[in-house]
Amino acid sequence: MQHTDVLDGRVDGEVARSCDVVIVGAGFAGMYMLYLARNMGLTAVVIESASGVGGTWFWNRYPGARCDVESMQYSYSFSEELQQEWHWTERYASQPEILAYANYVAKKFDLLPDIKFNTRVTRAAFQEEESRWLVSTDQGTQYQAKWCVMATGCLSAAQTPKIPGLDTFDGRIYHTGNWPHEAVSLSGKKVGVLGTGSSGIQVIPELAAQAKHLYVFQRTPNFSIPARNKPMDAEYENSWKRSYSERREKARSMPAGILCDLGDKSALAVPAEERVQEYQRRWAAGGTGFTAAFADLLKNAESNRTAAEFVRERIREVVKDPSVAELLTPVDHPIGAKRICADTRYFETFNRENVTLVDLRTNPISEVTPEGVAAGSDFYELDCLVLATGFDAMTGALSKIDIVGRQGLTLKEKWRDGPNTFLGLMSAGFPNLFIVTGPGSPSVLTNVIVAIEDNVQWIARCIAHLIEVDGRYIEATQSAEEQWMEQVRKVAEGTLYTQAKSWYLGVNIPGKPAVFMPYVGGLPTYQQICDEVAVDGYRGFSIGTQSPCVERRQVNA
Ligand SMILES: Cc1cc2nc3c(=O)[nH]c(=O)nc-3n(C[C@H](O)[C@H](O)[C@H](O)COP(=O)(O)OP(=O)(O)OC[C@H]3O[C@@H](n4cnc5c(N)ncnc54)[C@H](O)[C@@H]3O)c2cc1C
Repeated sequence: MQHTDVLDGRVDGEVARSCDVVIVGAGFAGMYMLYLARNMGLTAVVIESASGVGGTWFWNRYPGARCDVESMQYSYSFSEELQQEWHWTERYASQPEILAYANYVAKKFDLLPDIKFNTRVTRAAFQEEESRWLVSTDQGTQYQAKWCVMATGCLSAAQTPKIPGLDTFDGRIYHTGNWPHEAVSLSGKKVGVLGTGSSGIQVIPELAAQAKHLYVFQRTPNFSIPARNKPMDAEYENSWKRSYSERREKARSMPAGILCDLGDKSALAVPAEERVQEYQRRWAAGGTGFTAAFADLLKNAESNRTAAEFVRERIREVVKDPSVAELLTPVDHPIGAKRICADTRYFETFNRENVTLVDLRTNPISEVTPEGVAAGSDFYELDCLVLATGFDAMTGALSKIDIVGRQGLTLKEKWRDGPNTFLGLMSAGFPNLFIVTGPGSPSVLTNVIVAIEDNVQWIARCIAHLIEVDGRYIEATQSAEEQWMEQVRKVAEGTLYTQAKSWYLGVNIPGKPAVFMPYVGGLPTYQQICDEVAVDGYRGFSIGTQSPCVERRQVNA
């Protein structure tokens, strides 16, 4: 096994370790990138700010955290041995189990020696003369590499809201996206939770079960489908393991990379009774596959309304107090246009005596004081506050790094009005810098591990091609990027996704440009385009055999 005991070189008087590939992030994307790079005989190093692997599953340790893609699918497919030997204990794995899986993978493939933990990348600058990236960290270390892969995650930059007085609060503040490692005891405490998105919906029932009283501060109600999580059925697990590779292949032919029962009719093409039966069947089965009931639920507003109304009726049925039910009923966006949630007794939680729902649309928070939260004319005394306020999605982690491309161009400046990429994989002006599940790729609309595997394989193949043709650099062309972003915009506009104020659009982040970031055209179409681009000699990219500045000098001479 080749590890990165890399050559040391001097850069601006500092010693910079040198390798072929620097990978930022040791979640599922970074781990797989390291595995493939090493298999190709390349030297690689992963830099990770956490003290362990797992990314999302390292950070999001809040009670109730679990995946909402079934465990048999939310896992790597690249190793038959791995998928045969790992055993998931539940239909939807919990965070500790997914983290244990990530650690198991790291150990099995001997990844740890090449990962630098507790180290944050602060800057990555392209050195034009050498066509190399110089990556600097908060530990004062530097790495120099031909290729830099940003595996920094689409949901890894936790978002803390700016509320007057938040820093004066006397109790503990927890963010679901950065939950403490030690056990948090809430028993006998008055707890406030801010946010009712995917994380909020998972954590709220767990907090309610522990707290003396739970105040749920809600701005926007969200649609959620019961997960109906259960212990793994042995026969179900075996049926998957008997034909894992065929099933994985089929999953890759589905729009979200998830093998599911995908309705092929319009919701309006069937009689009302049949439609409701279908919704009932899926509601009883549980999980986010509910929105796959009909082919046009995210395209046709009237079709969508039928599914949304079905869920609204269920909320009214479950929640006993009609005024609370009304507040919990989403009315301002089509179902599925915001990330659909899967829950365990979420709506039932509001029937508990120790839970109070506070509607922030009519009673906005004016301030946090040392004792609690003031909202409208009421004051809520609290011992601790849980922020389930989500992430600066898709671009947040990248924008925290000072990324400098050709001729001093910064990514922050380039993406000021919204991210621009070709296929989500590269951005013009930043040669040899790859992004895994970047904006402009399907990423968060899929089983992300599938999207990660496809992106990482594409990057590995691209690097292999560069080595073969003696390419010093590869870079997305401006025109390919513009056409792709236009395509991303157009496909989104043909759907109902753009009708919700969601984090897909970045509107949860003050000042972030409202641009729909993921590609909604489906994973198979996207993957086909990526493959064709590669087969066509990396159409839409320029590949140079000399460094970009040498080429520029030659052109100018
Ligand atoms: C609570 C939650 C539940 C989810 N459930 C699902 C699900 O059911 N199905 C699904 O498909 N997806 C789900 N996701 C999305 C999930 O993020 C992906 O599935 C996947 O884990 C992403 O892996 P990644 O390696 O791309 O990124 P991450 O897991 O986010 O890893 C990125 C890593 O990069 C590190 N990093 C970032 N910036 C720097 C820096 N500057 N320097 C050093 N290190 C850095 C971070 O510390 C992190 O460890 C969920 C996300 C959350 C938050």
